[in-house]
Amino acid sequence: MNAKKNLAVLGATGSIGCSTLDIVRQFPERYRAVSLTAGRNVALLARQIAEFRPALAVVIDESDRDRLRQLLPDDVKTELLWGESGMIAAASLPDADMVVTGVVGAAGLMPTLAAIDAGKPIALANKETLVMAGETVMARAAAAGVPILPVDSEHSAIYQCIGQHPRREVARLFLTASGGPFRTLAPDRFGAIRLEDALNHPNWSMGAKITIDSATLMNKGLEFIEARHLFDMAPEKIEVIVHPQSIVHSMVGFVDGSVLAQLGIPDMKGPIGYALAYPERLPLELGFPDFTALAQLTFEPPDLERFPCLGLAFEACTQGGTLPAVLNAANEVAVSAFLERRIAFTDIHRVIRQTMERHTPQSQPSIEQICEADREARKMTSDEIRRCSA
Ligand code: MG
Repeated sequence: MNAKKNLAVLGATGSIGCSTLDIVRQFPERYRAVSLTAGRNVALLARQIAEFRPALAVVIDESDRDRLRQLLPDDVKTELLWGESGMIAAASLPDADMVVTGVVGAAGLMPTLAAIDAGKPIALANKETLVMAGETVMARAAAAGVPILPVDSEHSAIYQCIGQHPRREVARLFLTASGGPFRTLAPDRFGAIRLEDALNHPNWSMGAKITIDSATLMNKGLEFIEARHLFDMAPEKIEVIVHPQSIVHSMVGFVDGSVLAQLGIPDMKGPIGYALAYPERLPLELGFPDFTALAQLTFEPPDLERFPCLGLAFEACTQGGTLPAVLNAANEVAVSAFLERRIAFTDIHRVIRQTMERHTPQSQPSIEQICEADREARKMTSDEIRRCSA
């Protein structure tokens, strides 16, 4: 067995971060957490630091850093930093052997680039990074020889199915979607969707942002763009299929008409463990699907009338340039407004579409141009939201 692997865990207090630390706890002889970053959940981060004793921990701002210091036992030697420079330090810590990016949203981009530049293999759960800047990120990772191992369950499935097959033999990616809680809701009822309904995902337990993205199917749209970059696949060769049981995590079609699927129970420890241990497999003991009790696995096309966000993502993916970053930024702002009960569920796709229409896309943008498009889109979307809640 290899020596212990040191992990930088970005977004340690989120759903992916907590599952990653569960694996560290389960396999202390294999993994050590050497840096942890968090958003606002300082109390949980303090408990994680006391347990895992990382060399470095990072929060968003100075006042949280001070609060964190007060919560820690005196014998803790962890260095505490804050802000984007702190996140970048955590992602490029010399001691780290792998960076797990479980950060939500656009905040994942700069630390991911820093990890690539520092030559760290990445277990990527932050899909927004590839949505915003997929071409640049993949090109930089390839040039630096840095492997990017997907943690998103669908992309992990595709990665596992492709295995050692040469790229030319891969003809189609079948990206499965649970369809979320409103798959069969009558279209005229969407206006009455409450926040509580949207936060109630049928199969997966995840953070609030991705749960809303799953309810609008924007999550699948973002994953579509993610798959396009991760596997260098033309959009017309990626097919979204609704599979409500979430047992088939995705499939790959090969040039001979053969299709390989990856199956398992829906638990993020599966794909996280796969990325951490690749090319080995960890004895996670998650159990197997009970196939005879499942009775049936069903597949249906996505309904773009009910779920217009998916169509917007297809459009952004086809257009490329800065448009996917704009889609992503507008979505983040719209979802947080929905989470704060400032807009209705059906306003989410409306404000994203308006922002996309007002944006003038640039092709082959630099990282700076992408960040500028992101900032501008956030402002435009906030203006739209003020208009619809006024
Ligand atoms: Mg996913």
